[in-house]
Amino acid sequence: MSSVLRLCIVHHHQPLRIMGTRMLTSERVGFAPIRSHELKDPVPPALLSFKDPRAFQSKSWWELIRALGVFRLCSYPVLVNNCGKLMSFTRAVLGKRVFAMVLRPFVYAQFVAGETESEIAVSMEKMNSQGLHPMLAVPIEEDLGESSGEKKYDDNLAAMLECVHMSHSNAWSKDPMMQLKITALVSPELCVKLTSLLKKQHYDLDLLVRALDREAVTFPGLSETENTHFLLGLNRLNQIGEASVNKVRVLVDAEYTYMNPALSLVTMAMMKKFNRDSAWIWNTYQCYLKESRDLVFDAIHLSVDQSFCLGVKLVRGAYMDKEKKLAHKEGREDPIHQSWEHTNNSYNGCLEVILNLISQQPDRYKIIVATHNEESVRKAVTWMTELGIARDGGSVCFGQLLGMCDHVSLTLAQQGFSVYKSVPYGSVDDTLPYLVRRAQENRTVLQGIRKERDLLKQELRRRAREKITQAK
Ligand SMILES: Cc1cc2nc3c(=O)[nH]c(=O)nc-3n(C[C@H](O)[C@H](O)[C@H](O)COP(=O)(O)OP(=O)(O)OC[C@H]3O[C@@H](n4cnc5c(N)ncnc54)[C@H](O)[C@@H]3O)c2cc1C
Repeated sequence: MSSVLRLCIVHHHQPLRIMGTRMLTSERVGFAPIRSHELKDPVPPALLSFKDPRAFQSKSWWELIRALGVFRLCSYPVLVNNCGKLMSFTRAVLGKRVFAMVLRPFVYAQFVAGETESEIAVSMEKMNSQGLHPMLAVPIEEDLGESSGEKKYDDNLAAMLECVHMSHSNAWSKDPMMQLKITALVSPELCVKLTSLLKKQHYDLDLLVRALDREAVTFPGLSETENTHFLLGLNRLNQIGEASVNKVRVLVDAEYTYMNPALSLVTMAMMKKFNRDSAWIWNTYQCYLKESRDLVFDAIHLSVDQSFCLGVKLVRGAYMDKEKKLAHKEGREDPIHQSWEHTNNSYNGCLEVILNLISQQPDRYKIIVATHNEESVRKAVTWMTELGIARDGGSVCFGQLLGMCDHVSLTLAQQGFSVYKSVPYGSVDDTLPYLVRRAQENRTVLQGIRKERDLLKQELRRRAREKITQAK
């Protein structure tokens, strides 16, 4: 969020008990810190070690073998680090059709739900039967220099509106969520410009809400062309908000620090418009950022100040390497925490604060603990139990990517927690750039997925033994 927005909210005196400090630890914000005491309805500790291969009992033989093969490939850093180049090369050698035929049953089927509505429905029904919820993601990737004309953004809007519709209009879509990338609807260049303007300029949320309501407002600092594009972009976002409110929760992705303040500004305006009674629009907080605690703190204050419900997607962050390189190149301070441990502390600190708020006002605050990290999941489950937060009360849920860390997702779902899988869909060609970026973002997770591989092997052995015993 911009420092301007931050200033404007800090000047207000909030009734919320977290006022009076910028440090986001539970003691300092005035909550009772979560301490060990007798747990209400605790999850058996053995299950929280996520070591039970029976988590995979709903998977077919082929799904187990496929996952094992794909994770084996992902364990080679050279393959993951160069997967973009390797895929382009293979596609050039084999041709588009043969390449798609080769990729479809393996990598594609592991990480993508399908291309046609009927293929997607089959994957989603399977997920539904496993107690998992869908969080559909239209695989659109835009960064600086990749932006396109208004027609392309309108096409992206049509794809997103279709995603809203598909998310809520099927038997498999219970309490659906979807992901939204603002840069698919507003040019990344404009988001960068707005971010730099926000350092010196104040944009009132009401001005943005008026623009969402289709008023032809003028934003200071923007040229006429930029202003027109911003109004069109806000109009597109408004259409997503109107189509999804009361039906689908829309989780706005966090991207790079050189555009995040603009994305947050727009998201907060959408929250102000659409989140009066419940959180339908959510923002993402990347805990690898040194400023992440302040950003979460600011969002809480703004939500109180402007009377909207706050939905938080809590992630560690996906763009670490590029952020570090850019900061180094530009000679500015690295925005990323100095170590993984610092990121973990930041993640757990933010988690604790939001869970505390939820225990007080479950209707106004919601969180998705979007991580593959078992320790963070364990902490969230333990704190929920200690704070008396219902497992499926709708205020706390968990999120992992489709095809990854199913031992965590399935164990949680089997214990009655609300678990979402981020589900990309589309043709092999459309999802390829998405898959390559996700593989690179998650390469540490993919390479460290040894435990899931061991569990998959155990489950295969268990089934083989069962078959042999039955045959005797
Ligand atoms: C449902 C879902 C939605 C997501 N949406 C977004 C999004 O909108 N925006 C986004 O940026 N990401 C998003 N992500 C990706 C996420 O940010 C992580 O990249 C990914 O989940 C890996 O983090 P982890 O907590 O799962 O795993 P872990 O293995 O526990 O953590 C790996 C992460 O820790 C951090 N890290 C690793 N090494 C260091 C270090 N040396 N110093 C500091 N930090 C370090 C990095 O963020 C790295 O990705 C999403 C993930 C999920 C599951």
